Amino acid sequence: MAYDFDLYVIGAGSGGVRSARFAAGFGAKVAVAESRYLGGTCVNVGCVPKKLLVYGAHFAEDFEQSAGFGWTLGEADFDWATLIANKDREINRLNGIYRNLLVNSGVTLHEGHARLIDPHQVEINGQRYTARHILIATGGWPQIPDIPGREHAISSNEAFFLKELPKRILVVGGGYIAVEFAGIFHGLGADTKLLYRGELFLRGFDGAVRKHLQEELIKRGLDLQFNADIERIEKQADGSLKVTLKDGRELATDCVFYATGRRPMLDNLGLENTGVKLDKRGFIEVDEQYQSAEPSILAIGDVIGRVQLTPVALAEGMAVARRLFKPEQYRPVDYNMIPTAVFSLPNIGTVGLTEEQAREAGHKVQIFESRFRPMKLTLTECQERTLMKLVVDADTDKVLGCHMVGPDAGEIVQGLAIALKAGATKRDFDETIGVHPTAAEEFVTMRTPVAG
Ligand code: FAD
Ligand code: NDP
Repeated sequence: MAYDFDLYVIGAGSGGVRSARFAAGFGAKVAVAESRYLGGTCVNVGCVPKKLLVYGAHFAEDFEQSAGFGWTLGEADFDWATLIANKDREINRLNGIYRNLLVNSGVTLHEGHARLIDPHQVEINGQRYTARHILIATGGWPQIPDIPGREHAISSNEAFFLKELPKRILVVGGGYIAVEFAGIFHGLGADTKLLYRGELFLRGFDGAVRKHLQEELIKRGLDLQFNADIERIEKQADGSLKVTLKDGRELATDCVFYATGRRPMLDNLGLENTGVKLDKRGFIEVDEQYQSAEPSILAIGDVIGRVQLTPVALAEGMAVARRLFKPEQYRPVDYNMIPTAVFSLPNIGTVGLTEEQAREAGHKVQIFESRFRPMKLTLTECQERTLMKLVVDADTDKVLGCHMVGPDAGEIVQGLAIALKAGATKRDFDETIGVHPTAAEEFVTMRTPVAG
């Protein structure tokens, strides 16, 4: 049977665009459908605008610390509307770049909501198209628990477009988004509380990292409320919000921001017209080559719920394009040693196993740790400390994990990830000459284990 397209991609986000462009580059006839915004979550309401806001928030400490270097500044004033307008302009520019990337690589762009009609057919804007392969790359959507008053809460989607910086904000959750946005709002001057339901936020990160960040955030004056869960939210006559916690406490705020995880975006996708199956958590179930239970339909990125990070979606998109249209270049995605950063203030950068994971996996471990006051702060009043930690296998000397909390941790961990991926040992770290004077050189100068 002749199909309209070799590959029809639903979703022009990180994974979908990568897959579509490369498939077209390999000679396939490709279309991509996008209902909302070119570039997907990362470009529009994720990584990119988030990082711009983090940069914005960081100025607060730069201004404060500059006094130690002899600077006298007038009173600093921050205008949220300017930051958001400039951010929007930059995102618009990126949307245009994504459009050009697709069109210039020969991909047909369909703007609208796509729905599956059968295993080889998609409907969009009243038109039907057939395809040999269909790739679902529809990403995720914020998930807010079903509590009374949830309609008064916002998610990250809305946070990027608030008309004004709230005077008081309550950020709910203990994952990446909650921690990053608590830092953003606090840095920009909002009275910020972070509420997390468990003992300590950032479950899954190294214990020392979690504790260190907690201490640093408290030093900065962020109000961290752990073991705290919201029962209901009520709007008050003056427009403010009354938040009642499960332990009976009441908090007054102007904005409640939920960052409690993301669900797969499957709304009105027509999966019922296909044999695609979902896993226990509701994400699309795929095999190791991203094929769903329906042979002609594949899925990648956040919608399969493996590792919800842009570079992972990109790698999966590339793997699909190669497997389908350039099999001789196909390499499976390696999910080991994925580096990641939390762009909190200060940053977390991490790659490899945490101490807890290494011990659980049966490794005999040696732990190296360094805590120090960054050089830049020595002329300031700021008492912030940096943490660096190495988890080493005592038998093989292999470095199993690197963890950092401190300025530029996200930047520093990228290079370390290459070393770990190449199987670096602690001896390789020791024999590497440092770059002086930097914080990063600490990673090659830790000599005495703090725990075995
Ligand atoms: P998406 O990028 O979400 O793209 C899916 C696209 O499909 C969307 O454009 C959507 O409109 C479209 N779509 C959905 N349904 C349909 C349909 N039926 N028809 C047509 N189009 C449809 N990751 C990092 O690595 N680093 C970060 O710093 C980072 N920060 C983040 C900050 C926030 C606030 C959030 C929310 C996420 C962040 N992420 C970050 C995660 C990252 O954004 C995602 O992992 C990544 O975007 C997933 O890519 P994807 O291709 O799977 O989906
Ligand atoms: P995460 O899964 O990281 O964290 C969700 C948080 O919400 C957890 O602390 C979880 O608690 C808590 N939670 C879940 N359900 C409830 C509930 N019903 N009530 C109260 N708390 C709840 O999700 P995020 O929304 O922060 O981010 C989604 C994903 O996007 C991330 O996992 C990450 O993959 C990606 N991302 C990456 C970034 C980066 O690379 N810098 C930045 C932002 C997002 P518990 O731990 O107890 O389950």
